Amino acid sequence: MQLYCPSLTQYKRLKTLEVKIGDLLLGNFNPIRIQTMTTTNTMDTMATVEQSIRCIEAGAELVRITAPSKNEAENLLNIKNELRKRGYTTPLVADIHFTPNAAEIAARIVEKVRVNPGNYVDKKKFEQIDYTDAEYAEEIDRIRERFTPLVKICKEYGTAMRIGTNHGSLSDRIMSRYGDTANGMVESAMEFLRIARNESYHNIILSMKSSNPQVMVQAYRLLVQTMDKEFGNCYPLHLGVTEAGDGEDGRIKSAIGIGALLEDGIGDTIRVSLTEDPEFEIPVCKDLVKRYNEREKKTADQTAIPAIEKIPYSPFSYARRESFEVSNMGKKHVPVVIADFMQAATIGRHDLQAIGYTYNEATDKWNISDGAADYIYTGNKKIDFALPGTLKVICDYETWMDAPDKTTWLPLYQGASYLLHNERSAVLNFVSVDANSSDASEILQKIRKDDTVVLCLWSSHAHTMPSVRRYIMELMNQNIKCPVILAVESHDDNIDDQLIHFSAEAGALFLDGMGDGIWLMNDPSKLVNAQVSGRTYLETKSNHQFINNTSFSILQATRTRISKTEYISCPSCGRTLFDLQETTAKIRAVTNHLKGVKIAIMGCIVNGPGEMADADFGYVGSGPGKITLYKGKEMLTVI
Ligand code: SF4
Repeated sequence: MQLYCPSLTQYKRLKTLEVKIGDLLLGNFNPIRIQTMTTTNTMDTMATVEQSIRCIEAGAELVRITAPSKNEAENLLNIKNELRKRGYTTPLVADIHFTPNAAEIAARIVEKVRVNPGNYVDKKKFEQIDYTDAEYAEEIDRIRERFTPLVKICKEYGTAMRIGTNHGSLSDRIMSRYGDTANGMVESAMEFLRIARNESYHNIILSMKSSNPQVMVQAYRLLVQTMDKEFGNCYPLHLGVTEAGDGEDGRIKSAIGIGALLEDGIGDTIRVSLTEDPEFEIPVCKDLVKRYNEREKKTADQTAIPAIEKIPYSPFSYARRESFEVSNMGKKHVPVVIADFMQAATIGRHDLQAIGYTYNEATDKWNISDGAADYIYTGNKKIDFALPGTLKVICDYETWMDAPDKTTWLPLYQGASYLLHNERSAVLNFVSVDANSSDASEILQKIRKDDTVVLCLWSSHAHTMPSVRRYIMELMNQNIKCPVILAVESHDDNIDDQLIHFSAEAGALFLDGMGDGIWLMNDPSKLVNAQVSGRTYLETKSNHQFINNTSFSILQATRTRISKTEYISCPSCGRTLFDLQETTAKIRAVTNHLKGVKIAIMGCIVNGPGEMADADFGYVGSGPGKITLYKGKEMLTVI
């Protein structure tokens, strides 16, 4: 084990214990299982059955249903019977918060129960209590007393269990001792896991969800390391970014968090939580999982990425890689966005609208949006109009030689060719390097003292992200501080896969503090496929707009550059008493100008206030026809 996974350079899945959920095997190298959760009222048997069937037919291998009280838990039997009668044997999971009674009923009916250790026994009062060690131990005894009966029932009935920690609903006890941290999340699950192990019950899966992919990834890594140290083995892991939202942003956020872990072989089952109908989560899960189905095979005959001897950063906490400043890149600058126009036939003023610059002919002025690209790459093309002041041009070296203005136009060199050319910019030179090329290390040595170089880093290796990460670690180990632009190319043949690819590849690195800029590339002809795919979540009018929006959304989701309002909306479930999708759309329409503000839209008062974690404002369903508004954690009013 290399810190938290089998290998940081070679694709290998983490070995976990095998768990049986009905007839479904999970963990221990079984395929990564796909799951979702219904949004219907659990007391509405037929609606829940119909929705479960839609999910199963879309490909869900597990279906979770909320059981907030005894009544819903009991009705799971009717739902299960109806599904079985119609020939669907997919295991069902009861989702439990706060109510041990409901859990104990459900565990006798369905194949798996999910408990949230933050609220299974504890009522959350958001109180800061200073527990002495003796008081803390007493609390654990209290939990043991309340939790053990459920463990015994699960053992007797062969029911599996997920101990599902949520960043936003840690107990007051955990918050008081560990704070709102990845460490607190891990300890929260470990307390319950130790109790279950004492009863020799091992049919357990764990999760560490957060709406912030950075916290989520750190918590899973820490959990793997903690289990390995304490038990010498790991229980299977259910991955998810909670309250990811909807549309493009929800998919990007999920792909970043889940993808970052799958890249390192971590994860036995996934759920993509979207504020959309649950069956729409399944294709996103499939797109994510299929990236890794062939990874081992695809990398088998490639040159091995050199092993990592020393990891120069902590994978359990965020720190940005130290870099020097070159123009508006590196050091404390937010990551820049590069728009790739190499394949554009021509470039006119109105083409720049797709990357955030709208030209007003009457005033001869540019309107610049918060999501405006910082650089445009033109390849060997020239631009024959005056550019907005905040946009600079990157072009190939030969074109740059004839450029009219060498402060706005900057050269791009391909790898070692940088060393052969005498003519260079005095302030800024982009050097494109393939981390997988044989001369990559040599280039490093040559540019190490050049304070005008910005690396545009990519990799031709099939295990791409780890190959780029390995190169950046080498920069860190050798104290080479030039800024690094993450250049990611997608060869996927549809826009859905491209979105997942960009998010997982670039997002994983930004989460670890690597990257001073983003440069996404694709084949623009693939946009056609998106228009016939039948999905409506992407309102992209052109490939350049798609790429530009995706770049800014990846930076937003990794919290490295904030350019828009952030929405934290739960996927809704049987507890929700209003139309969450419609309400989210309405709130978005009137607040989407509030750059940097985090707005939570949560379906229920029981879970919502806790789970909206670090939102600035909250809109929470608190009863039939009732909504409670929050400012941070402070309740403002009920309407
Ligand atoms: S916050 Fe949303 S998904 Fe979570 S329990 Fe409440 S209604 Fe269900």
